[in-house]
Amino acid sequence: LRGGGPPQELRQSRILLGTVVEISVWEDAEGLAREAVQAAFAEMARIEALMSPHVPDSDVARLSRAAEGLEVAPETAAVLALGLDIARRSDGAFDLTLARLKELWDLEAQNPRVPRSEELAAALEGIGPQALRLEGTRVYKAHPTLAVDLGGIAKGYAVDRAASVLEQAGIADASINAGGDLRLLGRRGERPWRIGIRHPRDAEEILTILDVSDRAVVTSGDYERFFEKDGQRYHHIFDPRTGFPSTATQSVTLVADSAMLADALATAVFVLGPRQGLEFLAAFPQAEALVVDADGQVHATAGMAELQR
Ligand code: ADP
Ligand code: MG
Ligand code: MG
Repeated sequence: LRGGGPPQELRQSRILLGTVVEISVWEDAEGLAREAVQAAFAEMARIEALMSPHVPDSDVARLSRAAEGLEVAPETAAVLALGLDIARRSDGAFDLTLARLKELWDLEAQNPRVPRSEELAAALEGIGPQALRLEGTRVYKAHPTLAVDLGGIAKGYAVDRAASVLEQAGIADASINAGGDLRLLGRRGERPWRIGIRHPRDAEEILTILDVSDRAVVTSGDYERFFEKDGQRYHHIFDPRTGFPSTATQSVTLVADSAMLADALATAVFVLGPRQGLEFLAAFPQAEALVVDADGQVHATAGMAELQR
């Protein structure tokens, strides 16, 4: 089945989970590579159907409409469980209940605007880790209007699932990139993977290069989805304490074994800012982070230096 020649790259992109997903597979058997990539995209589409707020019968959409709570798929429960754990451990900086706030800011609107303070207060009412309770696969909401958003974690989970599908198909060398949520498997053909991390204020400038394999590298930045008004940048990562986009950070790059964990931790650290964020990460010894603060200064965990080249 295998060609036995040098590994060739097969690269394909799809729009999934609201972002461009690119899968690159290094494999000499072309048929096997094509089938594996198709299966990986199909798996990510399955996760989108479970966890996207825009799919009317997804677990997330049904949960947001439910009066008290409901039964969700075991996978949705597992993502909720990790999200709630990170929410509690980050003192609510990571928050799965910001869906109303996200709708209010509506960054994707033609002319997005800064909400009024009464609107913000209403969207923040009753939110937080205490407002969701999980018992097995049953989810309970503290009040009927509570809405759920897995936007800070679900992409990471989908990337992990795609990596599993590729591995099961016999692919050893691949990368999956879902809008800045990466998983690297094996090598890039004959070389190790080298990941360039961009400067948050200059897409052309490389901040650093990471040498990683068989890990996730996830970047959250304030340059992804934003609008500017009166010299202020309003972007898509919100501080649940204020209802405003978090201003402590420009970008966070998080390295961990799973993309789901890295995704949630990157968002949490973004909101906490460099000092509190790196303190919080001390409880996750397997995770490394590089934080660019509001002034453009770079802060990093001690282990990050070993990954930088
Ligand atoms: P990206 O979408 O660029 O990967 P993140 O992983 O940080 O960035 O996710 C941002 C998304 O997470 C937002 O679009 C929103 O859906 C959700 N979100 C925003 N603020 C928070 C927060 N404080 N905690 C958890 N999720 C959040
Ligand atoms: Mg995230
Ligand atoms: Mg992310």
